Amino acid sequence: MTVHDIGTGPVSSPTGTLGTSAKLSLTPLQPGEPAFDDHHPPSAELVSDCVHCGFCLPSCPTYTLWGEEMDSPRGRIYLMNEGLQGEPLTSSMVQHFDACLGCMACVTACPSGVQYDKLIEATRGQVERRFERPRRDKALRSAIFALFPYPRRLRALRGPLRLHQRSGLSSLLRRTGVLDRISPTLASMEALAPPLERAEKVPERTPARGAKRGTVGMLLGCVQREFFPGVNAATARVLSAEGFEVLAPASQGCCGALSAHNGREDEAQRFARGLVDTFEGEGVDAVVVNAAGCGSTMKEYADLLADDPAYAERARAFTDKVRDVSEILAEAGPVAERHPLPVSIAYHDACHLAHAQGVRAQPRDLLRGIPGLELREIAEGDLCCGSAGIYNIINPVPARELGDRKAANVLATGAELLVTANPGCLMQVASSIERQGGHLALAHTVEVLDASIRGLGPERLGVGRATTART
Ligand code: SF4
Ligand code: SF4
Repeated sequence: MTVHDIGTGPVSSPTGTLGTSAKLSLTPLQPGEPAFDDHHPPSAELVSDCVHCGFCLPSCPTYTLWGEEMDSPRGRIYLMNEGLQGEPLTSSMVQHFDACLGCMACVTACPSGVQYDKLIEATRGQVERRFERPRRDKALRSAIFALFPYPRRLRALRGPLRLHQRSGLSSLLRRTGVLDRISPTLASMEALAPPLERAEKVPERTPARGAKRGTVGMLLGCVQREFFPGVNAATARVLSAEGFEVLAPASQGCCGALSAHNGREDEAQRFARGLVDTFEGEGVDAVVVNAAGCGSTMKEYADLLADDPAYAERARAFTDKVRDVSEILAEAGPVAERHPLPVSIAYHDACHLAHAQGVRAQPRDLLRGIPGLELREIAEGDLCCGSAGIYNIINPVPARELGDRKAANVLATGAELLVTANPGCLMQVASSIERQGGHLALAHTVEVLDASIRGLGPERLGVGRATTART
């Protein structure tokens, strides 16, 4: 299979795997040593749960793309076992691990209950500590992790990005594909940047409307806070309308999801401790999240901080309180009046909501509760859109293939609005639809609920605009 990558031109990959590191020489830090050390290796017990039945194969996006055994969940588990048997970490092994999107579709599909999520997270931690990535790959990853988990740094980008988008340069670059020829990574990043909305701030305290049903803390997130402020504002309004007091401390930092999903264990733990500290003293009944990737990591803080005597117990208590916004709203039941919203919606399951958290019914039920709204299902709905945290930056080519496939399936529904619950999915699907010359309005589930509760029409969600639009 011939692929392109990170601005270095076509790459032929016999394994069908690709990534920034696919065609560059990767080297173990301890040549000849067993792949894994004693610090949280993938569990041999969990590896042995796999009975090699192959039921997970059709659910796996990389296996779907390339049909290569070692790019399937079963193949990757086989490689982990090789490592546990004392085989060294080879560049080929790392390529197969790197190519995994971490979408967890295999976890849902596996009839034997194999916890691939735990296995790949442990493996990634080992790779990050024990493998020397090529300089270019390292530099890209360092730049990503020096930017995305820091809302203030993202905020500093808003001005120049707005200028870039308004100058027409952005449309020119996308139309001519010139950036793509220089660097697919840069082209991907440019195309993924959403049209920037007005910065709408969420107050640190939003009182409950009507009879109070509880007090919740709200995660503001990093990309969500700076690039999709309308989603956070809608979340606070909807929760308040449904009787919840909402506390959103401005001092809160990143939840650590990107770091955890990429094997940066120390960094993820540092962010997790910070968030536990922030919300612990607030006396909240729940900590509400509106970004699927963040929510799934926050529900795993108990595991992430299990070895930390000062935080293990506190992390468990925190984890028990984490709820996706659709979970808490569905659990509580509606009290605010829903006004009719005549719009057809294609609902896209974010992998970290559907596969990682098992939250599928709640957003659909909430949307179906809106009079006049028609919900349509997307073909191949379980297949990842290719966003997967930073995957679409590190591995732009397969991410684009998956994005195009998702966009075609979304457009085939003929719906007027695409709804999902993750900022990464919104950016990925929007750029794929635009690349296909299609137009569709995009919104988060809570923005649709917010529009209905406030009695706003579908045009306020971008429906009817001539370009792929955010609210
Ligand atoms: S991970 Fe599960 S579904 Fe996949 S081969 Fe192993 S046992 Fe079968
Ligand atoms: S997490 Fe997704 S990409 Fe990775 S092995 Fe499982 S299904 Fe395949």
